[in-house]
Amino acid sequence: MLEELNNFSKNIKGKIRFNYCLKNHTWLNIGGKAKIFFVPETLTELRDFLSYIKKKEYDFSIIGAGSNLLISENIGDRIFIKLGKNFNKLSLTKDNFIIAGCSILDKKVSDFACDNQLSGLEFMSCIPGSVGGGIRMNSGCFGSEFKDVLLSVQVMDLDGRVYTIKSKDIKFEYRKTNLPKNLIFLSASFKTKKKRRIEIEDYVNKLKEKKEISQPLKVKTGGSTFKNPKDQTEKKVWELIKESVDNQISFGDAKISNKHSNFFINSKNASFENMNNLINYVKKKVKDKTGISLELELEIIN
Ligand SMILES: Cc1cc2nc3c(=O)[nH]c(=O)nc-3n(C[C@H](O)[C@H](O)[C@H](O)COP(=O)(O)OP(=O)(O)OC[C@H]3O[C@@H](n4cnc5c(N)ncnc54)[C@H](O)[C@@H]3O)c2cc1C
Repeated sequence: MLEELNNFSKNIKGKIRFNYCLKNHTWLNIGGKAKIFFVPETLTELRDFLSYIKKKEYDFSIIGAGSNLLISENIGDRIFIKLGKNFNKLSLTKDNFIIAGCSILDKKVSDFACDNQLSGLEFMSCIPGSVGGGIRMNSGCFGSEFKDVLLSVQVMDLDGRVYTIKSKDIKFEYRKTNLPKNLIFLSASFKTKKKRRIEIEDYVNKLKEKKEISQPLKVKTGGSTFKNPKDQTEKKVWELIKESVDNQISFGDAKISNKHSNFFINSKNASFENMNNLINYVKKKVKDKTGISLELELEIIN
């Protein structure tokens, strides 16, 4: 297998890494070594690689910016794919639609919109993920979500077919879409509205301030650990955690942020087990105290 891929890797623009540590590809800085880590730079090499893993029936995961992932140290033979730099292009159509490659960071899309005096994507400046991750998660904040601005997404399936899915044909829910897990998002188009640059900048600054006040910055975290259990209570998940769990609890270096009790932090060298234990502990405490079953927002790969 490795020999076959070694030969493949000699003829591509992208990179294939073997026994590659994933830690630095996640915000939580946790994760083991992937037997194979593939960074495609062209559609052809992505298609060729997919046909190879389909033939061998390997499991695979796509990583974006890794800001919503908790990856185990024992990931077995799972293959990881991360879109390369050729998938991070931005362009503007004459109708003011923004086309973004799915590996680009949300913040860059928001900046590009602002530079072109286009409004609607300001909330993306506050989400530290990539466009691909944002679509998968229907990410959002301050009253806006990807579903409000996404027009369509171009995807590749496991058979290497590339096609476009219109936003109206996707079922979006709170931090969830119904797009099949084995689709790779390649690029996306977003709608915008013309607005003065100064107004857009003001709004972005306001959102950033709000975010800075309420959430920890410059720490190793996966953002919101659990979803707000909207159907079961009016309370936010951080309130439920605050009233059910001693904030000082820790498992190794896995801790609860002092600033936001739904943000869990790797204060130094937390392992997957540490973080997973903290997650399970908090879940149980909230269930015991309030009767509410929390659902993870963070995605676990193990
Ligand atoms: C400090 C901090 C603050 C955060 N604030 C918010 C917030 O305000 N609102 C919010 O909604 N989230 C927030 N998050 C969570 C996270 O940033 C979002 O979920 C983000 O959209 C994930 O994008 P990503 O590129 O990091 O995806 P990853 O974490 O790498 O992956 C998440 C999912 O997307 C899939 N995926 C990624 N790229 C592709 C692709 N090209 N094709 C197909 N699937 C793909 C992955 O397979 C995985 O299932 C925060 C996280 C942190 C660390």
